[in-house]
Amino acid sequence: MKSLKAELHIHTVLSPCATLEMLPPFIVERALETHTHLIAITDHNASANVPAVIKAAEGSELTVLPGIELTTAEEIHVVCLFDTYSQLAEFQKIVDQNLPNIPNNPDFFGMQLIVDSEGNYVDTEERLLSNATFLSINEAQRHVQRLGGIFIPAHVNREENGLLPRLGGIPPELNLSVLEIYGISKAEAIQRYPCLKDYHLIPSSDAHDLDAISGVLRLELEEISVAALLQAFQTQY
Ligand SMILES: [Zn+2]
Ligand SMILES: [Zn+2]
Repeated sequence: MKSLKAELHIHTVLSPCATLEMLPPFIVERALETHTHLIAITDHNASANVPAVIKAAEGSELTVLPGIELTTAEEIHVVCLFDTYSQLAEFQKIVDQNLPNIPNNPDFFGMQLIVDSEGNYVDTEERLLSNATFLSINEAQRHVQRLGGIFIPAHVNREENGLLPRLGGIPPELNLSVLEIYGISKAEAIQRYPCLKDYHLIPSSDAHDLDAISGVLRLELEEISVAALLQAFQTQY
């Protein structure tokens, strides 16, 4: 059993709302500085910077999980984590088919940059990534689970794009067990939304800048895999 700090919701410069310091080598450096040994990269509806962060962490004590923060048709944000980049790439194809073809306005929303493992510019994503996709939360969950990923509604208590404010409750047919909370303790979250008492609530920094990365999750893990993570959430949170 390995005890470690993790941060499973991190944006890079590909997300329009992230700061321009969110480059692979800096993310890796900041994670290691804070003794965080497991991170996931979760850009909005996009994953093109995941390989660069994985490469930037090679040879270090940091493991990088491939992930994405999906915006569903209901405008709910969901963190989706996978064991392999090829699983994520399969899901990305589905997301791409379901993302409206609306160009980004970088002056208004921010730039969406694809970079290499050293943080050098490679390309710009032209479509606005912060739009809602056409995937309903039910459809999205089916795709993620079929591909072997885990599906964790993000910052469920947050007014913007949180599941609870958006839907007013948790659809039972989703059979969710793990939910992410943001900026609030577990007790406060349950006080505000009593239905949360039946769920495993994991904290997150939803890091859009380097300082936000602190290793907010403490986990005992048998191995590093999404199955082991799910089990750890269900027994430790
Ligand atoms: Zn979000
Ligand atoms: Zn986020």
